[in-house]
Amino acid sequence: MTTKLYWQDPYQKEFHAHIKDVRPSQTPDSVELLLDQTAFYPEGGGQPSDQGNLNQSPVTYVYSEGSFIWHVVKAAEHTFNVGDQVKGVLDWKRRFDHMQQHLGQHILSSVFDNPFEAGTIGFHLGEHNVTIDLDKGPFTQKELIKAERMANAIVFHNRPVQSTLVTDDAYQALDLRKTPDITDEIRLVEIPGNDLCACSGTHPLATGEVGLIKITKSETYKGGCRLTFLCGWRALETFQQIQFQAQQAAAGLSVGWPELTETVDGLINESKHLSKESKDIHQLWSSLQRDQMLSEATVINGVSIVMMCDDRMEYKRLTFLSNSFRETSNCVALLGITNPSPRFVLLNNTLFPALSMQKLLKESIHLIDGKGGGNAVSAQGGGNRSEGLAPMLSEIQAAVISTLTQALSIEN
Ligand SMILES: [Zn+2]
Repeated sequence: MTTKLYWQDPYQKEFHAHIKDVRPSQTPDSVELLLDQTAFYPEGGGQPSDQGNLNQSPVTYVYSEGSFIWHVVKAAEHTFNVGDQVKGVLDWKRRFDHMQQHLGQHILSSVFDNPFEAGTIGFHLGEHNVTIDLDKGPFTQKELIKAERMANAIVFHNRPVQSTLVTDDAYQALDLRKTPDITDEIRLVEIPGNDLCACSGTHPLATGEVGLIKITKSETYKGGCRLTFLCGWRALETFQQIQFQAQQAAAGLSVGWPELTETVDGLINESKHLSKESKDIHQLWSSLQRDQMLSEATVINGVSIVMMCDDRMEYKRLTFLSNSFRETSNCVALLGITNPSPRFVLLNNTLFPALSMQKLLKESIHLIDGKGGGNAVSAQGGGNRSEGLAPMLSEIQAAVISTLTQALSIEN
């Protein structure tokens, strides 16, 4: 079996070992090494594996196979041979981060276990997020704040963290928060007076080293809840980012960052009010514009025909104007804008069966090199040739006048 130096001294950053076996790896350009002893923690129990290097070749992954620990090393074949001595150096920043998050998880889990009576059923330590899954919850904001305060009190008390190896029989008699998955080598991790559980991971030797513990998210998960949290350096870096962003946003609004929430709430309300006011103005403008256009319309057989081809109007206004014409009976409205590209709406609010906006669109849309669709009552589309829009609408208008004039002569 491989001697676990990381259990003997979780702060060991360098070590020497002998190679017991070498084998090819499925990881490209890599080999796998079995050592007689190692300070590299293999992935397990929610904690990712350590990284670093062996004789200056990068160690990208470490895993257990029974009681053997294999190191995936980026190196050419024959770089390492059985019997060679190697020097291992850990990526200590990564390892210490894992130790902070892992012990932080023990502390949070112990707090949710007592007094909140929520068991931890999952733990994930990712590159960006650390989560625990609880079998109870979700918890209120007030409960989460209480849990954070209790967890951080354990940190500030700087309690010792003790780990011991016990036999299968010995642990049966203990009241553990978490029981072990394996029974060949049982390791207990204890914060006296706070927590006792079975764990194979790496932890600092005092709770104070965890630093700040901060819950950042709570969500419902599988009948309980999932909490995202940060410890130590991660918590500091995240706070720095949040403060920087809050200060940037506050400076943009010319307020101090403690007033940010109040200021943003005010802006949201103002924006809602302006949005409603803008809608009201657009609607008023649309009905006035419609009435003006109807007063100047060509009227045939009781139907008002209006045409507009505007080179400055925005699409939003075209939408409001066309909606206003949708409510007008005995009317044909041919409305278009050219800027930045031609777009149009054709409306037929008459009872003449021979008049189809879709049919007229199909016949003329080639003039703007465009696409569109609709039905007899309403059609719309857009194109690529702005200069073709006025001729297109004129052609449609001529066809509408012709159809309505013919209908009039048939009626008479
Ligand atoms: Zn642990």
